[in-house]
Amino acid sequence: MISAQLDEIRSRMRAALERAGRAPDSATLIAVAKTHPAEAVVEALAAGQRVFGENRVQEAMAKYPALRATHPDLDLHLIGPLQTNKVKEAVATFDAIHTVDRPKLAAALAAEIARSAKRPRLFVQVNTGAEPQKAGVLPDQADAFIDECRTTHKLAIDGLMCIPPVADVPAPHFALLGQIAKRNGIAMLSMGMSEDFETALALGATHVRVGSAIFGARPPVA
Ligand SMILES: *Cc1c(COP(=O)(O)O)cnc(C)c1O
Repeated sequence: MISAQLDEIRSRMRAALERAGRAPDSATLIAVAKTHPAEAVVEALAAGQRVFGENRVQEAMAKYPALRATHPDLDLHLIGPLQTNKVKEAVATFDAIHTVDRPKLAAALAAEIARSAKRPRLFVQVNTGAEPQKAGVLPDQADAFIDECRTTHKLAIDGLMCIPPVADVPAPHFALLGQIAKRNGIAMLSMGMSEDFETALALGATHVRVGSAIFGARPPVA
């Protein structure tokens, strides 16, 4: 079932990229396995999937070390909020971090990257809808924050990430993220989930984060 859903998402991605005049390999599918057991990841690995997303450092540390031993090419992305006291574990566990959004976190990442000599790809999260409860740098502060990451903390910023407000049409948020990336010379765009990844691909997404459409519904958060 996971393998059939993966096939379906991959073929919808190919079609969306083709409609947009983009190369078939110009976007990466991140299979978001949060809350699902390691067995679900094993099934996806058997179906050829190698790129996975998780929301929580602790959950990833429990699930992936054994899988990495058998699949050294596994590529693990942190897509949930990161506390500074978890930076050490996050840098050790993840190949990419999508949620860089404040100076204190940038400083902690820079220190840990220097200390460990392990450098995950970094994405700055932008709160495109300026939602008070949501993580991410505000759109009008994004340029200054990216500059601070680069200049003050000497961090290479590989991409931008956004999660549009659930009640909004997503396209304007994806377009805004693309504009911020372009004017800052940033190549990667992490945007689009199960409901809207085709729209995101039409607007330049290089990484789509798809969970429920691959692994099924998640249990409600307690
Ligand atoms: C859970 C999650 C996803 C995947 O959402 P689906 O709607 O299940 O595809 C993508 N991005 C982030 C940041 C998430 O937390």
